Amino acid sequence: MADVVVLGAGIIGLTSALALQEAGAEVAVVAAEEPQDTVSAVAAAVWYPTRIDADPRVLGWGTRTFEVFSEEAGRGAPGVSMRPTRMIIRSGAEGRPWWAPAVPDFSADPGEWRFTVPAVEMVPYLAHLLDRFRGNGGTLTIRKVDRFEELDAPTVVNATGLGAAPLAGDDGLYPIRGQVVVVDNPGLTTSIRDEHHPLGPVYIHPRSSDVVLGGTFEVGDADRTIRAATAEAIIERTTQVEPRLAGARVRNQLVGLRPARHGGPRVEAQGRIIHAYGHSGAGMTLCWGTAEEVARLAR
Ligand SMILES: Cc1cc2nc3c(=O)[nH]c(=O)nc-3n(C[C@H](O)[C@H](O)[C@H](O)COP(=O)(O)OP(=O)(O)OC[C@H]3O[C@@H](n4cnc5c(N)ncnc54)[C@H](O)[C@@H]3O)c2cc1C
Repeated sequence: MADVVVLGAGIIGLTSALALQEAGAEVAVVAAEEPQDTVSAVAAAVWYPTRIDADPRVLGWGTRTFEVFSEEAGRGAPGVSMRPTRMIIRSGAEGRPWWAPAVPDFSADPGEWRFTVPAVEMVPYLAHLLDRFRGNGGTLTIRKVDRFEELDAPTVVNATGLGAAPLAGDDGLYPIRGQVVVVDNPGLTTSIRDEHHPLGPVYIHPRSSDVVLGGTFEVGDADRTIRAATAEAIIERTTQVEPRLAGARVRNQLVGLRPARHGGPRVEAQGRIIHAYGHSGAGMTLCWGTAEEVARLAR
């Protein structure tokens, strides 16, 4: 029998499983879907506390995650790089945001913030995490679990994202639907964010060979089908902000449901269950800090 069963194989489950292994535990992961089929695989994914409230715990997890990804980018971990970013600031935002202490080169000019953050191509990165986990002797079983009692282990980590609503009876969880368009990269190297663009939220995240264009934040919408009109609108407004995107070939379109939670992420022990879910639009941003907290709670 494993010391710990981690339920969930998204970014929170896999990083938690690795942190637990590093702390000396024998770990098994059980998940309804392969890592590549999770919400985590849809994420753009850049370090930024999207749709998450200011909170010292969140800042701590984000700071630690920033450090781990920076170190991984430095040694060439699959899919991890550092991405310069321009963030267009429209009315209302003054000075430095609450998360700036986590970002070493943050600078604010009138109308624009600039900073460099980790960016992760989630498909290769999740595969890399799974390889590391298996290399340490871990096992992944694909199975949907309806009750924690089905899991025979002294400690169970609940990293099920939105799946925690029925499992943990948490009615504070809700989806924030996100749709993105992936296009060929016409030579872009800097991320652009314009969250309050008059036509809708804009983000443009270049990766090694493509660019993720977004996005949408549809609160309470759990529809995972791709909407053609939404995609057209995303292409129109991102191209307005970055004209070099004009005519870029569409490679892919994706939809994911961010696991948002009233009160912020739940990372706490409840008997033998350690909950680690509700990371909203910031699961990649908070994953390694969360995983280390899970390992501490397990000890
Ligand atoms: C369009 C989009 C863009 C995003 N961009 C970013 C970004 O740039 N930066 C960032 O930090 N975040 C981003 N996010 C948010 C990020 O994707 C999420 O916060 C993160 O994926 C949550 O990870 P998770 O491991 O908690 O959940 P998930 O990835 O959903 O994984 C949950 C796991 O639990 C399993 N599970 C659920 N229920 C059960 C059950 N009953 N039995 C067994 N297994 C179960 C699932 O199969 C899955 O393996 C984005 C999200 C979207 C949709």
